[in-house]
Amino acid sequence: MILPKEDKLSDLQLKEVEEIVHSFGCEIQAIVGTQRTIYAILGDERHELMMNRIEGLPYIDRIDRIQTPFKLMDIRSDLARHRIKIGKITLKEEPLFIAGHCTIDPKNKNLFLETSFAVKEAGAHVIRGGVWKPRTNPHSFQGDDSSLEILMEAANATGLPVITEVMDEDQLDMVLSAGVDMIQVGARNALNYSLLKKIGHKTTGKSVVVLLKRSIHMGPIHEFISAAEYIAAGGNPNITLCPRGTLPTLDGYRNHPDESSAQLLKERTWAPIITDPSHSVGKAAYVPAAALAAMAYGSDGLIVETHVHPSKGMGDDPKQAIKPDVLKQLITDARLVWKMKSRAHL
Ligand code: PEP
Ligand code: MN
Repeated sequence: MILPKEDKLSDLQLKEVEEIVHSFGCEIQAIVGTQRTIYAILGDERHELMMNRIEGLPYIDRIDRIQTPFKLMDIRSDLARHRIKIGKITLKEEPLFIAGHCTIDPKNKNLFLETSFAVKEAGAHVIRGGVWKPRTNPHSFQGDDSSLEILMEAANATGLPVITEVMDEDQLDMVLSAGVDMIQVGARNALNYSLLKKIGHKTTGKSVVVLLKRSIHMGPIHEFISAAEYIAAGGNPNITLCPRGTLPTLDGYRNHPDESSAQLLKERTWAPIITDPSHSVGKAAYVPAAALAAMAYGSDGLIVETHVHPSKGMGDDPKQAIKPDVLKQLITDARLVWKMKSRAHL
């Protein structure tokens, strides 16, 4: 990773660096951070001569040679100073709360608008609403393009940022042109490396934040961080990691709650952790405990399925959405845990 002396390289300087790396069969990818732009070398970085030539340039500060599969997302990376903003919140400086429907019902716009105002009132900073859904059963409701308009209407009406999941490039293009603030990559696509690369490329230099869920099939923690590395290497370092439960082992929970992974992630990566207790436990009554545990393990925020009338909801909402009054209490309690945690420097 190349760190220039100034905030970024000029066009001429970049051209000179590119000529050097190209002559060794490598490529350069700019990673645009809030503080400054750094440059990843894509390809085999072990060419000592290439490194020496770059480091010898008068406008280069140094080259970081972090030898992990995730040198951009690594806690020792220069990007550790990068701060991610969403709405009025700077992540890691205060906790972030995201709430809303699992699935937007395109035939019942008002229900989503009602929930959006209710979660805002409860203290949420970002509204979630599933436009397209990754359903195990191909005959289940798959979502609808028209829900994207409803999502943006909720954003305009409440003034809050919004998040929705994309599963392919067409959906990515649609949400980017609609102005969605945050993009979710779900548990099923967290290992879809070509989608991760495209998301990184197409959001480079934008303030769009990506919430990457942990795949059910991810094993060791480095696999999760390496998936995030694809997005960062694509050009966008605005990435949050989202534990959401792994393969079910406890009879009773939908998935095996994995909020404790926040602690392990934080030892290895600077990326903020936004935990999803809803898909982890799969039942509204279990959500608050899992959410508070996540905060105790060091999570920087929560994404919680919430609905004004869960029984009228679609997708996961009838089973696992909590009501806005429960969300309000949960946010109050989660803030307390977050404060205790930061006070104790745990
Ligand atoms: C969701 O957020 O509604 C969802 C489908 O999530 P996951 O990818 O974690 O299953
Ligand atoms: Mn859901």
